[in-house]
Amino acid sequence: MHNRSAFAGRGPRKTRNRVGGGNPTTGGNPNRRPRADRTSAPELSVLDTIPISPVPAVDTFDELGLSSRLSAELAKAGITKPFPIQAVTLPDALAGRDVLGRAQTGSGKTLAFGLALLSRLDGGKARPKHPRAIVLVPTRELAMQVSDALTPLARALGLWCRTVVGGLSFTKQADQLRRGVDLLIATPGRLSDHVRQGTCVLDEVAFTALDEADQMADMGFMPQVRAILDLTPDGQRMLFSATLDNDVQQLVTRYLRDPVTHSVQPATASVTTMDHHVLLVSKEDKPAVVAEMAARDGRTILFLRTKHHVDRLTAKLRSLGVRAGALHGGKTQGARNRVLDDFREGSLPVLVATDVAARGIHVDGVSLVVHVDPPADSKAYLHRAGRTARAGESGTVVTVVTHQERRTVFRMTEQAGVRPTSTKVSPGADDLVRITGARIPNGEPIVEQEQVKRPPRNRNAGGGGYRGQGRNKRFTPRRGRSEA
Ligand code: AMP
Repeated sequence: MHNRSAFAGRGPRKTRNRVGGGNPTTGGNPNRRPRADRTSAPELSVLDTIPISPVPAVDTFDELGLSSRLSAELAKAGITKPFPIQAVTLPDALAGRDVLGRAQTGSGKTLAFGLALLSRLDGGKARPKHPRAIVLVPTRELAMQVSDALTPLARALGLWCRTVVGGLSFTKQADQLRRGVDLLIATPGRLSDHVRQGTCVLDEVAFTALDEADQMADMGFMPQVRAILDLTPDGQRMLFSATLDNDVQQLVTRYLRDPVTHSVQPATASVTTMDHHVLLVSKEDKPAVVAEMAARDGRTILFLRTKHHVDRLTAKLRSLGVRAGALHGGKTQGARNRVLDDFREGSLPVLVATDVAARGIHVDGVSLVVHVDPPADSKAYLHRAGRTARAGESGTVVTVVTHQERRTVFRMTEQAGVRPTSTKVSPGADDLVRITGARIPNGEPIVEQEQVKRPPRNRNAGGGGYRGQGRNKRFTPRRGRSEA
């Protein structure tokens, strides 16, 4: 985690198109009103007790005020009835209000802010390098996912929707920005690079959405996020997050103006459609129990703490005949995309991942999430768990717990508002099969395809992207964890 002030006190300061620094009340942007003018947002204690918003009884997007062109385009994708988060936020968002929304991933947040942004952008045209709206997301995967959801809709309105994320060609992104982008989906690190290089100018951004704001805060992106927001003029801002905790409060207070707040879920996970289990195992039995769970029928995600553990377990499972793929921040973007695509499309039923995959990623039909290593805290528990039971489906969440880990895990699940059923299991046990569908792996190793090797890490070059050379390099911030 890096939490240092993004750009403060480093090198000479320019007044325009510089990320960070400047007047602490106006964020260095002459267009921004001083902070004191803004109506403060509710305090955290209030945020955390936002009552669940009553969902208006609407059956169509038209009733919420969405243009018929957009609803027709949605209908093509089989989306006709608004999800609750969309029904509660869209009328306010379409009316231009700032929106603070709490909804878990999988609840339809992307369209909640995406439809509002596109409607507000409809009819306008972007100038070169000057995006008119930005969506900030914590991870590249989420950026791609948001882009997949919004690009066809943007196209239907004749709007340009583009993505800037680390790991992909900086030059190509700069080229796209130069041709004019209405809606820019970005991770904070790469967007900061473009701003610093002058390939993206933020002073015409009229609409901003922050997705998974708590994750951005957790990953150390706050300085960059603040610096980016400081460069955008006062416009409409929407902030969505599955959890609204301390870190997010700063953003809310500083950047949202008299926001309407909506929550469509309690602070805990969607426990109603999720079964939570703690499987008590001995240290010796753990590897076999994990392998049997991975060999089950059905889409499964196994979470571990470190990249190294992920790689090791993936290799082990593949050697036992389990089609498992590894996802973590040490993989090239191409490898990450391939694994996710294969997992989505079904040829790879088991994803072994670090927490980089825990947030924002939507894959239908994940029926089992396994915490192979206990999550770091209750928030991480909920986010990992949120990969199952999405969009109304049901799912099982299992935490594999050895004797030493018991206390910590029980404290954590309690904090998460979850009451898991505890069962002692060993390899082949009936209970293990009943709870997870575990099977003995067939033992036939999966033939390894050629692995794409990541080039040696070098903070100053490579990776398909810009690494701070050129002008203003003194302001290069370090990327957050997911960008690594
Ligand atoms: P999100 O929470 O934005 O990741 O959305 C989760 C999933 O729900 C995505 O696959 C969306 O395509 C789908 N979805 C979002 N809104 C609707 C809707 N109103 N009707 C049906 N599916 C939806």
